[in-house]
Amino acid sequence: MKMKPELLIFDLDDTLYPPESGLWHAIGDRINLYIQRRLGLTLAEAVALRDQMYHQYGTTLRGLQLHYRISPEDYLAFVHDVPLNRYLKPDPPLRKILTSLPLRKVIFTNGDRAHANRVLNALQLDGCFEDIIDILDIAPYCKPMPQSFQLALEKAGVQDFSRCVLFEDSNRNISSARTLGLFTVLVGKNGGPSEAHLQIPTIHEVISLFTPAFCLSNRSKK
Ligand SMILES: [Mg+2]
Repeated sequence: MKMKPELLIFDLDDTLYPPESGLWHAIGDRINLYIQRRLGLTLAEAVALRDQMYHQYGTTLRGLQLHYRISPEDYLAFVHDVPLNRYLKPDPPLRKILTSLPLRKVIFTNGDRAHANRVLNALQLDGCFEDIIDILDIAPYCKPMPQSFQLALEKAGVQDFSRCVLFEDSNRNISSARTLGLFTVLVGKNGGPSEAHLQIPTIHEVISLFTPAFCLSNRSKK
């Protein structure tokens, strides 16, 4: 990477841990159950509605808020109520990598802060990020809406979007961020076409973007 980044922005789910963990799938099951119970639908109807909301509004939550006046707090607490330690293990190598990077780092998630904190604790990455920007912070928007990135970067106090690096597993979020001028890195083994500047198979490869000299020379300026 030629520029010196001002801020590293990390998506949470399926980015800081791999999709194979099954956690996101478990959250998806809770979303289906929430819709079924709340709106009195069959599983098939709930899945179809969820799919439609996700594609039309960016997240199921935003669609449910608009059409059914769902409380975001109620929804977020229910869908994230899964036993995290069944899916996630501590990741000391990632902790070492993140702490070796002398740059500002934040989480930016379409989930909520409570879930993000629980995930970071389960991965033992607590303290590796200076802030968590969540879906409540960027209301009424959500990723991939451009306004969500603008609000998030404003919250992080960043002026120059081109000096921000986004790590994300979602192609549509990558695409939106790139349009706004961010440097984008797709995380995961997603084989399809991507608009990302770079692709890395797992988040651990973040270290490959920075030279050892960079990590050492900038350490004192942290
Ligand atoms: Mg994700």
